[in-house]
Amino acid sequence: MKTEGRVNVVVVGGGAAGLAAAAAAEEAGLSCQILEAQPRLGGRVRTLPMPGGGVFDAGAQIVNGDMRAVLALARRAGLRLSPVPRSGIDLCVVGDDTLRADDLMSPDEVSDLLDDQVVRWDSVGEVLRALRLKLQWMTTPWESVGEAGRGLRHLVEKPTAPRDSLAAALRALLLSSEEEAVAYSHYSECLGRPPEEINAQMARDLISRYASERDDLEFQVPGGMMQIVDRLTADLRHTPRLASPVQRIGVTDDRVAVETAAGLWEADYAVVAVPPPVAQRIAFDIDGSDRLAAILSSFVAGDTIKTVLVFGTAFWRLDGLSGTVVFGDPAGLAVVDTSLDDGSPPRLTAFVGGAVAREWAALGQEARQAMLLRHLSRAFGDDVLSPQTVAEAVWVDDPWSGGGYNATVRTGGYHDAIARLAAWGGRVRFAGAEVDDLFWGYVEGAIHSGRNAVARIVADGVQAAA
Ligand SMILES: Cc1cc2nc3c(=O)[nH]c(=O)nc-3n(C[C@H](O)[C@H](O)[C@H](O)COP(=O)(O)OP(=O)(O)OC[C@H]3O[C@@H](n4cnc5c(N)ncnc54)[C@H](O)[C@@H]3O)c2cc1C
Repeated sequence: MKTEGRVNVVVVGGGAAGLAAAAAAEEAGLSCQILEAQPRLGGRVRTLPMPGGGVFDAGAQIVNGDMRAVLALARRAGLRLSPVPRSGIDLCVVGDDTLRADDLMSPDEVSDLLDDQVVRWDSVGEVLRALRLKLQWMTTPWESVGEAGRGLRHLVEKPTAPRDSLAAALRALLLSSEEEAVAYSHYSECLGRPPEEINAQMARDLISRYASERDDLEFQVPGGMMQIVDRLTADLRHTPRLASPVQRIGVTDDRVAVETAAGLWEADYAVVAVPPPVAQRIAFDIDGSDRLAAILSSFVAGDTIKTVLVFGTAFWRLDGLSGTVVFGDPAGLAVVDTSLDDGSPPRLTAFVGGAVAREWAALGQEARQAMLLRHLSRAFGDDVLSPQTVAEAVWVDDPWSGGGYNATVRTGGYHDAIARLAAWGGRVRFAGAEVDDLFWGYVEGAIHSGRNAVARIVADGVQAAA
């Protein structure tokens, strides 16, 4: 196979994580080549023209004031941020009832409860396990000590059982039926899977490690988030190779070989900055590849559809509404006012995630949008039925991310798959929004994880290629 080149670091994937990794490698004096599967950079950051004028973000759009890396890039690019309009009444729609959101427990309060509850489960589990092990040690002959040790290792490493689903954890909170429906819907939307399929312990870990106390929905970037990615790309010395999907990564002696259909790149290290569900399609010919396969297969891609609706007036504000609505049914549907402060026409953005996103993705666009508008009219009345413009992005089964917003850890997978992937050593390292725990699932997290992967490589003492 033809050798295309030799560098210190090959970065697989040109999303925010891969670009940040490449920029960090170059800043550390290392040569670096990005190999990107698509004919464009940015991955799940993608700004598209809006029919009728302007642009919309098909993927990532919103940042908050704690997302320092993204904000620093925005500042360097000379971008102005527009606050997400948040005043007015938030609603929840459950069955025939339209409720004020502040009459129910908020998603943040449910998350706090969930955090405490799963911690309690953990401690009970720990005590039971310790007791069982103690009994085993007391009642078995010395020959069985090795077996007990193996049992211990199994307990520590064992993937979680199906009963450890987020749905089971939510049920155990004994919320009112409306609150449970809204919480179920909220997690379906945020995590892109029905809570039955989401690992409760992973969700607890994400909740307790998330690094921001601020509202998620603070700012958006007029002109689109892709400008942040463009800023990251502008500093790179090596031009990324586009339309170059990586098929195989092998480690031999002191180097790593990264293969595309066009040829082979040799490097000291590879940083794999692609979402875990699509990383599973790369053939890894490395030590521990079975263990790696088990970790990667602990992740499942999220399902999401994002629809932007442009209106002549912000009619919801006339009724004192904020535009924020969570629907208990269909589970996974939520709406936010994403109007910009630049005088452009007001917008609502609808997100549908989880099982309903998958169902709606199978419909034709017209039927899907008619269905969406019908549901929105339960909260907003008939005014919502006549948007001036509609634009949508269907991420279900997206070929190069697997879906959106992010991949999550499934029930039955390793609950600590994120930490395992982040800590993977040797010549192949992993990065991406799914690999960061402080800002897991955000562009901010993708940037951190790319930079962290390279910081670990630099700490290994890699020498810059001549
Ligand atoms: C609809 C939607 C809305 C979102 N909203 C927000 C938001 O408001 N705020 C926020 O912070 N985040 C948001 N997110 C999440 C955010 O977009 C992602 O977490 C982040 O962009 C992921 O970056 P990444 O670099 O880790 O992965 P990606 O962006 O997925 O990049 C991975 C790259 O790897 C490439 N690739 C895949 N396989 C291969 C291969 N074999 N060889 C070479 N290249 C390969 C892909 O083409 C892609 O370019 C949203 C996501 C979606 C889908």
